[in-house]
Amino acid sequence: MSPKYRSLQAIQAAIANRQTNCSILVEHYLGKIAASGHLNAYVEVFTEEAIARARELDEKYRTDPSSVGRLFGMVVSIKDVICYRGHQVNAASKMLEGFESLYSATVVERLLAEDAIIIGRVNCDEFAMGSTTENSAHGPTRNAADPERVPGGSSGGSAVAIQTDTCLISIGSDTGGSVRQPAAFCGVTGFKPTYGRISRHGLIAYASSFDQIGILGHSPEDIALVLSVIAGPDEYDATALPDPPPAFSFSSQKEGKPEPKRIAFIEETLTHPGLDPAIRQMTVDYLKSLEAEGHQLVPVHFFYLDFLIPAYYVLTTAEASTNLSRYDGVRFGHRSEQAGNVEEVFKLSRTEGFGTEVKRRIMLGTFVLSAGFYDAYYAKAQKARRLIAQRVEEILKDCDLLAMPATPEVAPKLGELTADPVKMYLSDIYTVLANLCGIPAISILIGKHPEGLPVGIQFMAGKGKDVELLIFTEEFLSADRQGGTEELRN
Ligand code: GLN
Repeated sequence: MSPKYRSLQAIQAAIANRQTNCSILVEHYLGKIAASGHLNAYVEVFTEEAIARARELDEKYRTDPSSVGRLFGMVVSIKDVICYRGHQVNAASKMLEGFESLYSATVVERLLAEDAIIIGRVNCDEFAMGSTTENSAHGPTRNAADPERVPGGSSGGSAVAIQTDTCLISIGSDTGGSVRQPAAFCGVTGFKPTYGRISRHGLIAYASSFDQIGILGHSPEDIALVLSVIAGPDEYDATALPDPPPAFSFSSQKEGKPEPKRIAFIEETLTHPGLDPAIRQMTVDYLKSLEAEGHQLVPVHFFYLDFLIPAYYVLTTAEASTNLSRYDGVRFGHRSEQAGNVEEVFKLSRTEGFGTEVKRRIMLGTFVLSAGFYDAYYAKAQKARRLIAQRVEEILKDCDLLAMPATPEVAPKLGELTADPVKMYLSDIYTVLANLCGIPAISILIGKHPEGLPVGIQFMAGKGKDVELLIFTEEFLSADRQGGTEELRN
């Protein structure tokens, strides 16, 4: 499964040397998509369109090599919650079956403006709710490391798309770990920026104060480049940060010895009973190797660990219940054929259109927002969110980075978590923190579990420190300090 090209820099060099071109690249990726069809990562492949665009871009380059955009040669897939004008977007839900978008998400516009090629739409959990990509109207996606296992979720299709070398970058979304957790399960890199760094215009909403577009790829370097293209203010999203997109250039960042960092780790995350002993050991070994390289490890305490999941699920289900109220068979979404009156249109359309997990969350969210329970649940969870964010801010004032495992366990078998939603929710323990606080976070591969599956580690940084975080992890990966991970990818 070793990718033909691991970075855009390598692709652009190969194009300049006439070893490849966009048409050859697209053909390569289409071949890989066909070969990995059994994993069900793609729900739609834009075959003709990608071929035609590659041809156009090759012509543009031939006429004037300096006229092409920054993402020339980059082939991208997008999660089925991102709108692309004239293309279907279903949020992996029967509710949006056949729905075609009338406009493109800001991220799509910006990718295309810099000459990226969008090759297809990838699978995910319904409305991005889930941790396994099994809650999908398109059927489950499978992990290429072991097809009996899930790829994680909700951006499972994105992670497998990178894992199987069917594109160079996949655009996902991360509300509570949906980019980082599947990246960890599939052995690729997954990055969630600071909240508001990338416009959410054209991203189908799950929980708006948590949702953030995320980027999956092989290297933090490619991810940083994509971030510099798609980030920045947007008149269509009032929550998009006003700062200009962070600048990033390939070589300049790499010169010189990396600055030693103060890396915090929360002791309670490593002693948590839910953490797999082998993952704990691998995380500790990895942190020690950082120390050996001159970085400083700073053990810290965080007493709110057991409040993360309750706070996250109370707040996100509340937001989801209001966000999803628009799908009523009248304004948006599937309309029941069985309905005899208006009330039945609402009731039956939603009953037929939504899957079990989405219904569970709408009910939970409606409950925590209801008059009698608002203070006990919703208002309390908001207070918990504030305390959690304050503590993390304190830690990141004193330290450059916060490290923790990406997931408590390796990828489970298909069906293992769907029967037990609470167990599934608890497995998000390490990823929801970054979304509760709005800080950037990345998961990278650190090695192979004794069970033969990929294991990731997660790093977070203070708000707005997206590029610093990416440069830091890029230094690790390019130093090839992980030993054995190359073999794992192959
Ligand atoms: N697994 C988490 C959830 O189900 C995260 C999902 C996401 O980040 N979109 O809510």
